[in-house]
Amino acid sequence: MKTIKIIIAGPRGRMGREAVKLVCSTDHFELKAVVDHKHDGMKLSDLEGFPQLDIPIFMDLEKCLQDIEADVLIDLTTPEVGMVHAKTALEYNVRPVVGTTGFSKEDLEELQAICQEKELGCIIAPNFAIGAVLMMKFSQIAARYFTDIEIIEMHHDQKLDAPSGTAIKTAEMISSVRSTKKQGHPGEKETVTGARGADYQGMHIHSVRLPGLIAHQQVLFGSDGQTLTIRHDSYNRGSFMSGVKVAVETIMNVNTFIYGLENILE
Ligand code: NAP
Repeated sequence: MKTIKIIIAGPRGRMGREAVKLVCSTDHFELKAVVDHKHDGMKLSDLEGFPQLDIPIFMDLEKCLQDIEADVLIDLTTPEVGMVHAKTALEYNVRPVVGTTGFSKEDLEELQAICQEKELGCIIAPNFAIGAVLMMKFSQIAARYFTDIEIIEMHHDQKLDAPSGTAIKTAEMISSVRSTKKQGHPGEKETVTGARGADYQGMHIHSVRLPGLIAHQQVLFGSDGQTLTIRHDSYNRGSFMSGVKVAVETIMNVNTFIYGLENILE
């Protein structure tokens, strides 16, 4: 298999550290450089937790792409930075694999247009855990039969965006098979603001943030006399890496914009 040359943005982060491990332990992946806005000019081995990794650090992705030849950028940073990075990578004909969440609909449309124009692949996946993708797919099937749905997503308390990218993606997938339906009592009133969560085409999304959690979601379906719960739990960030690996491998053979890991799993 041809070696895939990779740059990782956000290597010191919780996801970034796992991605560095993944790339360094995969035979046909080669880590060429990392982008870290705080440690320009240093080597990865100068930072805590990366012994013996003689990999250059760049503060700026554009400068990195001018100096380093790469096939794929893995971005695990923040939504604002991730969008700039994805656009810059495409400009330099490098394929972005983006795990960063919090992209707006407009961001996604803009990236899709760039990919179309440049005929270059890019994948944005709000959740790289294969079990989470199955949870979304199973929820989409269940929504054909159960139209009253509440999504409860639960994450660690350092998460910046709410609701999670996974919850939004789940709601979008469900909406493709379910018409808008206002749920609950027609006259219901919140006595505490936010008690019913966010309203997505009549479905409700609730975001829980607690230390100790990683990434968890349950989708609750109700109808006369029965409920169905579909739940997925990520207990560590390694759970996302099998999806990152598939995405990096797949994007090398794809010249379009892909949103969601479910679109590349057979
Ligand atoms: P994190 O631990 O806060 O890591 C983010 C890292 O990005 C930090 O090290 C941060 O550095 C760095 N960073 C910020 N601006 C940067 C820049 N301009 N250039 C380079 N690095 C920069 O967060 P995380 O838990 O790893 O999550 C990262 C992203 O992945 C989030 O958007 C999260 O929601 C998402 N996520 C996705 C999945 C998935 O499956 N798709 C799963 C889990 C998380 P400083 O802290 O020094 O600013």
